[in-house]
Amino acid sequence: MTCSYTQISQYLTCPRRYRHHYLDGWQEKDTRAAMLFGRAFEQALTAYFLREDAAGVLFREWTVCKNQALRYSNGDTWDRMLQQGIQLLDRFCQDDRIRIRQPRRNLQIKFTRTVSEKNDFVAYVDAIGKLDGTRCLLEWKTTSSRYPEEPDGLLALDPQLLCYSWMTGISEVAQVVFVRKRLVEVQYLRTTITDEQRAEFGQLVEDTIRRVESAQFLPHSGIRFPQNPCSSCPYVGLCLGKPELINIGLVRRPGAENLGWLDELTY
Ligand code: SF4
Repeated sequence: MTCSYTQISQYLTCPRRYRHHYLDGWQEKDTRAAMLFGRAFEQALTAYFLREDAAGVLFREWTVCKNQALRYSNGDTWDRMLQQGIQLLDRFCQDDRIRIRQPRRNLQIKFTRTVSEKNDFVAYVDAIGKLDGTRCLLEWKTTSSRYPEEPDGLLALDPQLLCYSWMTGISEVAQVVFVRKRLVEVQYLRTTITDEQRAEFGQLVEDTIRRVESAQFLPHSGIRFPQNPCSSCPYVGLCLGKPELINIGLVRRPGAENLGWLDELTY
């Protein structure tokens, strides 16, 4: 089995959710505008570091999504998101705080690690480069609201950064957060992950894989803050047995009914 951060994270949120997706083959329809915009924006960032026309790439990739019956949130529209994306690229370029040498090698880097005899872990790190002159692992995020920065050091608890630090052995990590709001903003958040945190994350991965292998998929349901994973869960229609909700948000991977693809889990 090949695992990824997404798999571990889904299991820890709710093991039943993991089963719906990875074992029963249900997946969310790819119509969320924010997610598709994030992918288009990442392509534009790659173009920026390759000294190509980043705004042109954003327009091209975002145009591909235009006729896909996108689901917008927070009053977003296709045009507004494009405009915000171009403003964010401008701001990022003016800030000029990130440097990536040899971008063809140091963007979207695949790391693989053997976790046990039967299991590998794979991660795609957005970039390795320098933030304000300090070498670090970099993750891009697009969001419609700022990431919290208080209390000081909070970022060191981000599980995705912990995971990528554990995978790469790099202790200096950063998130570059592209905030789509009325006045766009780019946040540069940096922290240091300790050896102890990396070791603990490795134990968490091993423990989670053991639970998956022993078929522990009991639901961790919750509907009230702060334990409310069901409120935003795309699989809620399955748990409630409501076909109309299932049809709105989910599709089933072809052939999933006979589970023949179980040894080809994607991540
Ligand atoms: S609706 Fe709740 S219980 Fe069901 S999979 Fe989602 S988070 Fe888990």
